Amino acid sequence: MLRSIQPEALDSLAACDPRAQRSRRDLRLINILMGNAGSAACALAKELGDGAGIADLGAGDGTFMLRVARQIRPRPVRVALSLVDRAGAISGETTARFRALQWTATPLAADVIEWLHRAPADFDAMTANLFLHHFEPPALRRLLSLVAERTRVFIACEPRRSHLALAASRALWIIGCGPETCEDAVISVRAGFRDDELSQAWPDGRGWELKEGPRGPFVAEKSVFPRDKVCGGFLAATSSPLLEELGLGELFAGCAGPEIRTVALFAGSSQLAAQMPAAPAPCRPFGRAMRREDFDAMLLARAAHFGATIYQPWSVGAVQKEHDGFRCLVRGANQELRARLVIAAHGSWLPGSLATQPRHGAARPSDLIGFKTHFRGAALPSHVMPLLAFPGGYGGLVNSGASSAMASS
Ligand SMILES: Cc1cc2nc3c(=O)[nH]c(=O)nc-3n(C[C@H](O)[C@H](O)[C@H](O)COP(=O)(O)OP(=O)(O)OC[C@H]3O[C@@H](n4cnc5c(N)ncnc54)[C@H](O)[C@@H]3O)c2cc1C
Repeated sequence: MLRSIQPEALDSLAACDPRAQRSRRDLRLINILMGNAGSAACALAKELGDGAGIADLGAGDGTFMLRVARQIRPRPVRVALSLVDRAGAISGETTARFRALQWTATPLAADVIEWLHRAPADFDAMTANLFLHHFEPPALRRLLSLVAERTRVFIACEPRRSHLALAASRALWIIGCGPETCEDAVISVRAGFRDDELSQAWPDGRGWELKEGPRGPFVAEKSVFPRDKVCGGFLAATSSPLLEELGLGELFAGCAGPEIRTVALFAGSSQLAAQMPAAPAPCRPFGRAMRREDFDAMLLARAAHFGATIYQPWSVGAVQKEHDGFRCLVRGANQELRARLVIAAHGSWLPGSLATQPRHGAARPSDLIGFKTHFRGAALPSHVMPLLAFPGGYGGLVNSGASSAMASS
C-alpha cells in the first residue's frame, strides 16, 4: 500500500461545529482503544523530571496529553506544557484538570510549523499523537528537522499503514463512531507509516537514537514452523465463512483434501456409514481436512499479511499486568513485549508457567497418549471420514490432500 495523503474532514470543520465535536469525542474513544496515551506515558516517564518543559504538537482538544499526564508514573510536577494546535479547541476545563496535576498547560492556537520556527530550543520533550501522518514528505522532513533542533526527546504515535489497520478503521462504525470519523480513519491509515519511514524522514547526523516500530498486534509462537500437530486437521463446513473472511477460502480449497460427504464408524470388522448433511449457505456444503503443518503456517502468514509482527520461536513465560496493559516476558531471552490485550492462545494441552496453562503433574496410569500417522497411497475412499474404535482408544482417518491420509488417535 503506497502512502497517500488526503484532506481529513475534521481539519476543515470549525471547532464549534457539532460534527467536529462528535469527531473529537470519537477520537478520544479511538485513542483509548489504541492505548497511545499509555505508550507515550511509559516512554515519557523515563525522560521527565519535576519542572520539565513539554510541547504537544497537534494537541487537538488536549485530552490526549491529559491522559498521558495522568498515567505517567512517577508523575513529575511543575511541568510546563504547551498544547499547540491551530484549531484552538482546548477548553478551560481541560487546562484546569492539568492544574490539578500541578501541570501548567498553555493552549497555543497556531500552525505547528510556524510555531516551531519561533519556539525556544530547550524543550525536554515533544510529543505528537496521530498528527505527523497529515504531512507530505517535504513538510514532514521540515517539521522533524525543527523538532530535532528544539527538544531532547520526541515521541510520536501514528497510524500504521497496514491491511489490518485499514480493516479496523473500516469497522469503527461498530463502536458508534460518526461518518466523519469513519471516513477520516481510513484516510489516516492510508497516510500512515510503516517500516522505518519516520526515521528516514528524521534529519541526519545529530546524534539521535531512533526507535521506530509497530506497537502490536504481535504473535509469539514458541515452535518453529512448519510443524505438525496431533490433530486430524478436519475443518467442518461451518468454518468456511471465517476462512473466506480471512481471504483464505481459495488457498484452503487448493491445499485441503476432498470434501467429506460420508462419516463412518469402523470397529473390528464392522463398518457403519452415513451421509453427511450439506451445510446451509454461506457455508461451503462440506468440510475438508488440511495438514496442520500447512494450515497453521497459512494462518500465521495471513496474520503477518494483516500487519501482525511475528516473534518465532519465542516462548512467553510470564504475563504481568501493568496499569494500562500487560508485559509479556519471553522465556530464555532478555526480551519483553507490551500489549493492551493478551490472548493466551497456547492450546489447552501443554503444561507451562502461564496462569492460563495447566501445571506439570506426575504421570498417572489413566493418562492418554496421542499420536498421528501419515499414510501414502491409502485405500480409504476419498470422501469418507471414519472413526476407528479399538480396545483402549479411538482415532480418526481422513484424506488431507497431497495423496495422504492422516490418522490421529
Ligand atoms: C487426536 C486429536 C485429533 C484432533 N482432530 C481435530 C480435527 O480433526 N479437527 C479439529 O477442528 N480439531 C481437532 N482436534 C482439536 C484441535 O487440535 C485443537 O482444538 C486445536 O489445535 C486448538 O487450537 P489452539 O490454537 O487453541 O491451540 P494449538 O493448536 O495447540 O496451538 C497453540 C500454539 O501455541 C504455542 N504455544 C504454547 N505455549 C506457548 C508459549 N508459552 N509461548 C508461545 N507459544 C506457545 C504452541 O507451540 C502452539 O503452536 C484434535 C485434537 C486431537 C488431540
